[in-house]
Amino acid sequence: MINTIWKKSISILLYHRVLVNPQHWLHQGMGVAQFVERMKILKKRYCTLSIDEARHCLEHNTIPNRAVVLTFDDGYLEHFQVATSVLSDLNLPACFFIPTDYIGSTGMWSDKLVWALKHWELPSLDLREFYQSCFHTKTEIQRQRVLEYLKKWLKYQPKKIQDALVTHLFQAHDFPEMPRQMMSEKELLALHQQGFTIGSHTHTHPIFSQVTLQQCQQELVTSKKILEKILNAPVRYFAYPNGIQNKDFEDAHQILVKKAGYDFAFSTSHGKLKTSTNQLACPRTHYLSVFS
Ligand SMILES: [Zn+2]
Repeated sequence: MINTIWKKSISILLYHRVLVNPQHWLHQGMGVAQFVERMKILKKRYCTLSIDEARHCLEHNTIPNRAVVLTFDDGYLEHFQVATSVLSDLNLPACFFIPTDYIGSTGMWSDKLVWALKHWELPSLDLREFYQSCFHTKTEIQRQRVLEYLKKWLKYQPKKIQDALVTHLFQAHDFPEMPRQMMSEKELLALHQQGFTIGSHTHTHPIFSQVTLQQCQQELVTSKKILEKILNAPVRYFAYPNGIQNKDFEDAHQILVKKAGYDFAFSTSHGKLKTSTNQLACPRTHYLSVFS
């Protein structure tokens, strides 16, 4: 019975950040050493497929035992600088989902919020204009709580508010200049030329359920167009921002994804890919039991 399940499913692993210096409260991500260790386990004990290969296996009902696909969301620079060199050494394929408005930039609103809280030196943070609240920021633990709180709240706010709040923080303080955090066009092209898959993760990374269907359509079409121009190749795969099925996106969004010309779309809901899986809402996982 167990064998049957293995033969008919593919685990899609989802990664965000792979950090040289993980600072646990600032970034959610894993350190390089742990990442290397896990990739070596995959190399030894699993069959790591590209999405194209996984798709072929699904279509022909030839899924190998212990099949895994690696995916990375958000287009961070360390995906190019760190993760792909580990993957190339081990000859492991992977797919990178890119929010195209942030290509080559210092990051999304959440990255700027992290930077602001990291360099915040005042004892309080007055956000009454946005949140009707003034936060204590004297200790590192307080700043950590503020960051977690604001991230959770802002995630579901309109982009206008996310950007305004971040601008407010940066205008009020003289933070050190932010370094580039996202891969450039040149780096994306290099990944594509090395055989890695590049997919879309929208243009500006909105949670689909929080914006209009028309905006979703624009996000899907614009990001596809931009990536195809950079890569000079078709882009067929998509990952929903935040990605919880029936919360962050619904059936109507899946129809738009298909209409925009994507063949597969990935959620962050937990599960495995089977021949019966809806290809416009493929579940993923953060973890395999073999890593424990
Ligand atoms: Zn994302």
